[in-house]
Amino acid sequence: MLKSEATTSEYEKAKAELELLQAKRGDEHKKLVEEQASLMKQLESLAMEREASLAPIETTSLQSYNELRKQKRGVAITEIEDGACASCGTTINAAAQQNARRQIVYCPSCGRILFAK
Ligand SMILES: [Zn+2]
Repeated sequence: MLKSEATTSEYEKAKAELELLQAKRGDEHKKLVEEQASLMKQLESLAMEREASLAPIETTSLQSYNELRKQKRGVAITEIEDGACASCGTTINAAAQQNARRQIVYCPSCGRILFAK
């Protein structure tokens, strides 16, 4: 085989491989675009749901919640688990646990809003 024939053959092989990879990448890109569209729809739906949930909440409570959420890196509310704050582990006394079922009670240590089931 002449050198130019070998080079042409390698070129054809590389070209075919490139086309295969481009087709594969195209498929992956299409899937990602579809997934993105689906997630955007989900985000819109959740935003509407959030908006509807916020409507009955008093403005001052909502402002307090948003401020607390900013301060506490996105977690403003935490559960009382086994008599303690689920976020910081501080023991919550029985009276505060009872109150957390009816009114807003803050953790004495981390300051998050506590809720009890
Ligand atoms: Zn706490």
